[in-house]
Amino acid sequence: MSTHFFDLDRDGLAQLASEHGFRSFLPKQLLRWVYEQGITDPERMTDLSKRDRERLPDVLDFERSVELTHQLATDGTQKLLMGWPDVEPGPGLNILQSGGDDRETECVMIPTEKRRTACISSQVGCPVGCRFCASGLGGLEGNLTAGQIVEQAWRLGRLDQVDRITNIVFMGMGEPLANYANVTRAIRILNAEWGLGIGARRITVSTVGMPVAIRKLAEFELPVTLALSLHAPFDELRRDIIPWAEHATIRELLDACNDYFQATGREITLEYILLGKLNDQVEHAQELARLARTLRANVNLIRYNEVAGLPFERPVSADVHRFQAILKDKGVNAHIRASRGRDIAAACGQLRHEQRQARVDDECGANGQED
Ligand code: SF4
Repeated sequence: MSTHFFDLDRDGLAQLASEHGFRSFLPKQLLRWVYEQGITDPERMTDLSKRDRERLPDVLDFERSVELTHQLATDGTQKLLMGWPDVEPGPGLNILQSGGDDRETECVMIPTEKRRTACISSQVGCPVGCRFCASGLGGLEGNLTAGQIVEQAWRLGRLDQVDRITNIVFMGMGEPLANYANVTRAIRILNAEWGLGIGARRITVSTVGMPVAIRKLAEFELPVTLALSLHAPFDELRRDIIPWAEHATIRELLDACNDYFQATGREITLEYILLGKLNDQVEHAQELARLARTLRANVNLIRYNEVAGLPFERPVSADVHRFQAILKDKGVNAHIRASRGRDIAAACGQLRHEQRQARVDDECGANGQED
């Protein structure tokens, strides 16, 4: 099988070019065509020799994903459901359980006046299993390679009305720190001036929390922004909402985040999904404020988007604003993140979940007719 272009850094491309007898300036030409011009069809790379254009497809695959669905929301948010013919299974995983057509991930482009943020996935499915999230429903199916991660951001940057991607958030499907090697390799390519050229500070890794991996990330050469998905200020409630939370207490996570802050100087963000009447009451806000202050962390409040079939409610506005006011009163920098793309199922894993459900319904319907 040929090599995935988006998996390669500049040295990897140079090595590949030399091994296959291409001229030494081919890597520079390819990087310019793909990352600057957004062109992956060798036939359109006009400064390559005819012979190189003909030989390239035998050596390199450019786009490996298949676009299954493309949605555009009224607020400009765009979402892609992508199919991957090849996904690397994680340790101990039986990826084939899900069937060949089911290796799907989502990525979202969120525009604001000044930014074009790519929200990308790091895994197919997710091992964390947050009870409110569609991605966690089927568990983990596999890890994405660095190339598959980079390709998502590249494809989002090629959509209509997107000039260039300015920010990356690892907040799509998957737990990025559970796919550490591929995620950090992808970050290098996303950051490189020959790649997508996105500054480390504009790349956010959002994790439910693995203290060992957070400390490892603190030693990574690029000081990316770290966001901890807390979602509950008490351990017991957190374990109820996030099964993965049994691996580390909130105290252990905050200690690891503090180490990250000390090592990188990057302020930590606490992500907090407000679930109606479950974690959005006064006592939750007061304890969250206390935790945030110990870490000098910023807090992002996210109103839950309901997922069909899951028993969680979107919080009422009065509770959301009271929650934020309590945090602010205690000196915490707390923002309510705008809900984006609600009309296109923009919550993590929702589109994939809905499409799978529709397929199941179709199949049931078909079976019903046959019976
Ligand atoms: S919210 Fe994130 S961490 Fe939780 S199950 Fe969904 S994808 Fe995984």
